[in-house]
Amino acid sequence: MQVLEKDYWKKFDIWKDVEEYEWRNWKWQIANRFKSYEDIKNFLKLDKNQEKAFKITENIFHFGTTPYYLSLIKDFSDKNNPILKQILPSTKEIDPVSQIESFLDPFLEDEMSPVSGLTHRYPDRVLFRATNFCSVYCRHCMRKRMFLEDEKARTKEEYDAMFQYIKQNKQIKEVLISGGDPLTLPNSKIEYILKNLYQIDHIDVIRIGSRELVVNPYRFLDDDLLQLFDKYDKVWLVTHFNHPDEITNETKKIVKNILSTGTPVLNQTVLLKGINDDEKTIEQLMRDLLKSKIKPYYLFYCDPVKGVVHFRTDIFKGIEILEYLRGRLSGLGIPTYAVDLKDGLGKIPLVPDYIEEIEENHVIFRNYQNKKVKMIKS
Ligand SMILES: *Cc1c(COP(=O)(O)O)cnc(C)c1O
Repeated sequence: MQVLEKDYWKKFDIWKDVEEYEWRNWKWQIANRFKSYEDIKNFLKLDKNQEKAFKITENIFHFGTTPYYLSLIKDFSDKNNPILKQILPSTKEIDPVSQIESFLDPFLEDEMSPVSGLTHRYPDRVLFRATNFCSVYCRHCMRKRMFLEDEKARTKEEYDAMFQYIKQNKQIKEVLISGGDPLTLPNSKIEYILKNLYQIDHIDVIRIGSRELVVNPYRFLDDDLLQLFDKYDKVWLVTHFNHPDEITNETKKIVKNILSTGTPVLNQTVLLKGINDDEKTIEQLMRDLLKSKIKPYYLFYCDPVKGVVHFRTDIFKGIEILEYLRGRLSGLGIPTYAVDLKDGLGKIPLVPDYIEEIEENHVIFRNYQNKKVKMIKS
């Protein structure tokens, strides 16, 4: 966890005249994003290779970050900084050797779409893509194909067709609103979506997937948004922290605002090579999440998406990490490690195997300390 001092951004030359009411305004953060090589080159000293990465990716994948997210970087000269690695393009994103076994849409989200913008994979829940805009573009994005599209929200007509489908399919109990980042939309659009979904009786849960808590937490200082969460009382928030440096002393205070509206806050982490693929980093992240009252939900194996696979770890790394966490960390802090299968076949959990042997009447288990225990089967 990082502790940010009052007016800490003023230590950066470019923001020395930015007042607190501006810095802590989510719209200021979005309006003042860094969106191109030109925007960032005076702020960060980029080497030739990084410069080249910008040039060769700029017409393929968007670049973008909020000032707040940039300000969390502890050492700008450290090429391995976990935040820099999540926002700066790399030449590996389009290198055919690095991108072997990768696909634009491995989970057939667009193909398994009964109505444009909706993906209906599991009977009881649908994915609702509300916009393709994000205030920060993660280099490891699983919907990186959308970077090829214009940054825009869907139209009211598209939303209406999506509501219509959900209304007609009564087995759907949950709508997962994602994007892009749905909380970058203006409150009026968010209310339009929530109001319409709230009126469909068979919807019990509205899950919002957003990274704003990580990259623009001031979004949740907006009382009008908090009132919407309070009023449309089916909302759960799932966010996306990947590293302890992303959690600050502000995070906990802001989570409290969200929780006060009756909205649970959960987190999904992606296991990323060179960013968080070691036991200690994940343990610290899970501890900091718990301190902030955010429940770890999933730890994902990095998806086989074009432009992303250079972040992949060995698939068994996640199991090793879970094995390390079990017994050492509160069960509240242990996420489910999941792999999304290609062709839209769904997510599967991977767990360490605690069964050593099955005998006729007994099972031999091992505990987290590798002690063997024999138990009768029935
Ligand atoms: C991941 C996903 C969900 C949600 O799955 P959970 O296991 O409930 O988190 C729903 N629909 C699609 C298409 C998904 O990819």
